[in-house]
Amino acid sequence: MDSKAHRPGREAGRPRRHEEQHEGFGGCGETRHDGHMIYYWLIDGLKAGDKATLIIQLMKLVMKNSIIIGAAILAIVLASLGTYFAAKYWSSTTSSETEAVTNVSSPSCGDGVCQTIEKIKNTCAEDCLKAGDAEEVLVNSDATSEGFVVIHMEPGTGAEEQKNLANPKTYWPNLVSLVETADLYDIKLTLLFNPEWADYILQNPDKLSVLRNWEADGHEIGYHHHGPQAHGMNYWNGYTNQIQYQNRQQYKGTIDDAMNLLTQLPIGRKIYTAGVAGEEDRLFDWPPGVPYRVDGTTGGAVDSMKQETINNQSITFLQHQIFIPEGENSISLDEIRKEATEMKKDEYLGIVFHAHNFTNETKTEYEELFKFLSENLNILTVKDILT
Ligand SMILES: [Zn+2]
Repeated sequence: MDSKAHRPGREAGRPRRHEEQHEGFGGCGETRHDGHMIYYWLIDGLKAGDKATLIIQLMKLVMKNSIIIGAAILAIVLASLGTYFAAKYWSSTTSSETEAVTNVSSPSCGDGVCQTIEKIKNTCAEDCLKAGDAEEVLVNSDATSEGFVVIHMEPGTGAEEQKNLANPKTYWPNLVSLVETADLYDIKLTLLFNPEWADYILQNPDKLSVLRNWEADGHEIGYHHHGPQAHGMNYWNGYTNQIQYQNRQQYKGTIDDAMNLLTQLPIGRKIYTAGVAGEEDRLFDWPPGVPYRVDGTTGGAVDSMKQETINNQSITFLQHQIFIPEGENSISLDEIRKEATEMKKDEYLGIVFHAHNFTNETKTEYEELFKFLSENLNILTVKDILT
């Protein structure tokens, strides 16, 4: 037999001995001896790793009348071999199928083409946007309506507080939180400061640095003036050009003095936008050289720009409306939405509120406002809209 050469144990004699025994015996003892021989044949066959030899030897056994045992073992061996090859075939096809799915879905996703497999299996939304989805994105990104959000930083609210920096000290954290929130929605704020705030910020280099970082990020630094007439003496910031108030206890300086403080805040040392309520104060206290004016608490958030003259100076004006959750005279978010959808070309949507209005209680509603504005309008600073 060819397989002899592959049986090193064959020369040791043990299998031959059993072969001789088998050949020498017959009759009643055969079954027992055949049982031994089956054992050694199996061992030999397994050692050799030669399945063909094993099967032939088993077939020989069957031929030699050990039909029941031989046939049973043959059946078991054949069944085992069948199971082994079936399992091997199954695992190879399964793994190749897995590779095929992986190969189809990963390298082509993101190539901008919706392959059939991506469409059917919905494995790549990036490539397989529906036509309607794509149009919707285009409409939003195409929005050109502009708006602005003005923040007023108020002086103290009483004669005593005006003498110190209590108000800016109390509400500086509110302002920081407000700007951080606006940044999340890419809202560029127009921050208008009363002189007390400039005083407070200039006393602290860290705060001045924070403020200038805001400016570098696209927010605007401007002036907010509380004159002695429009807001009443208790809400006056102490600065005025009106001589009749300059002998008062609260008086701190002229508008030039106020602007000397304010212009130290922005990097470029120039103020573009101011909010000065009340014509009775504005005619005297409008800061010289400031070209843009924003004002208004009621009367609507949408307006078109107007030219006006104050003290022989040409000014561009935009109206805004106040938004304070639960606040008196405040426009509601629904009204803002309605006005925004009805805006005409050359109109701007303007919102104003105070830094101290932005609290833990109102934050959610301001976030809702910012979300709406960021999704539907370009919110720019007043300077960027009007320049
Ligand atoms: Zn104010």
